[in-house]
Amino acid sequence: MASKGGADGAGNFEHYDVVIVGAGAAGIGVAIALQHSGVENYLIVDRETIGSSFRSWPAETRFITPSFPSNSIGMLDLNSIGVGISPAFTMRIEHPTGQDFADHLQSLSDYFELPIREKTDILSIEKHGEFFHLEHEGGKIFAENVIWAGGEYQYPSLGGFQGSELCLHTSNIGSYQELEGDDFLIIGGYESGIDAAYHLANNGNNARVFDMNCPWGEKTSDPSVALSTYSFERMRNEKFEDNVKIYSETAVKSVAYNDGMYCLTTEAGQDFHSKTKPILANGFNGGHKFVAHLFEEREDGFPSLTENDESTIVPGMFLCGPSVRHDGHIFCFIFKYRQRFGIVAQAIASSLGLDTEDFVAAYRSWGMYLDDLSCCGQECLTC
Ligand SMILES: Cc1cc2nc3c(=O)[nH]c(=O)nc-3n(C[C@H](O)[C@H](O)[C@H](O)COP(=O)(O)OP(=O)(O)OC[C@H]3O[C@@H](n4cnc5c(N)ncnc54)[C@H](O)[C@@H]3O)c2cc1C
Repeated sequence: MASKGGADGAGNFEHYDVVIVGAGAAGIGVAIALQHSGVENYLIVDRETIGSSFRSWPAETRFITPSFPSNSIGMLDLNSIGVGISPAFTMRIEHPTGQDFADHLQSLSDYFELPIREKTDILSIEKHGEFFHLEHEGGKIFAENVIWAGGEYQYPSLGGFQGSELCLHTSNIGSYQELEGDDFLIIGGYESGIDAAYHLANNGNNARVFDMNCPWGEKTSDPSVALSTYSFERMRNEKFEDNVKIYSETAVKSVAYNDGMYCLTTEAGQDFHSKTKPILANGFNGGHKFVAHLFEEREDGFPSLTENDESTIVPGMFLCGPSVRHDGHIFCFIFKYRQRFGIVAQAIASSLGLDTEDFVAAYRSWGMYLDDLSCCGQECLTC
């Protein structure tokens, strides 16, 4: 039987069956799945606003995965976060900007009347006895289950080499058009680095991209490892070909700033100079580090999960979003991690005594209930 949520007179005691931390694509998506599964007593909290990570993308950055209104033939729009939903249909945009997608999440939240509390930064999560205690500036929220959907974008990877603090991380760029300078050094050549180089080149700038591997040379079809088709297409753009130089197998050792000039030194000892702050496109640490104490750690540093995406050591603690890993499977795109929303919702709903048979059948029919990972190789269509 679901228990009642609510606050005491002082407004600082609340209890929910489920609290979802994060109102991004994962948090909103799993909330819709919870609602469909019959769970009623839940709350979504976000330190900022709905879709705030998407809202802070550089203005020019677009989704690399295309949206297409393919739902009518049972193929869910790649950027959809819920059964029957199609951003292509509602927004009429194939490659949404971050701003577009944040607006889309807001409209879904309004449509489904999701219980969301914004501007609530969760400072710590601990489990005492049966309940999780989620501490925020205004008090504590208590929950029987917590779904961590804090994402990656707000936890950028800022270090890794000497002088990295002199660089500008892509997550701190408001717009490529507003950046001063005409010659850019970009550290990292996966999606964010190529995106930066593309926009800078389009604005008539030169850019040099350094990557310790060779993302544009990967043979795998898995977009979690290789560059997306969208980026390959961009790299064939005339301005990109004219203005961008890419350096594969080139690890950066340090960045220094002397006499108004930045000097990037590679592990091989080669120096590259620019008057402009180098751009750090080396990705994200992932918000799962914030809840690392509630999960066992895999060898690769990602949380170890049960088949329901629950912690293997703290029952009731779930993970949703791009940090989900099972064996070698990386769920870092929406079309991948959304397939696990139904799994988490079903696990929680059934623990609350709700009948989930129809829910599971409906989600399975939309490809939103991936419980068999055995088919998921790099060429697998579902993963
Ligand atoms: C440049 C770029 C391009 C991308 N392109 C694509 C693409 O084309 N297709 C695709 O599928 N994926 C793409 N991705 C990945 C996609 O954006 C992420 O998978 C997605 O944002 C993850 O959603 P999320 O809900 O897990 O995290 P977020 O969208 O980051 O949401 C997490 C939310 O949690 C909140 N939060 C975090 N910590 C706390 C806390 N302690 N207390 C309260 N609230 C908290 C944040 O405010 C935020 O709103 C791209 C990513 C980037 C950076």
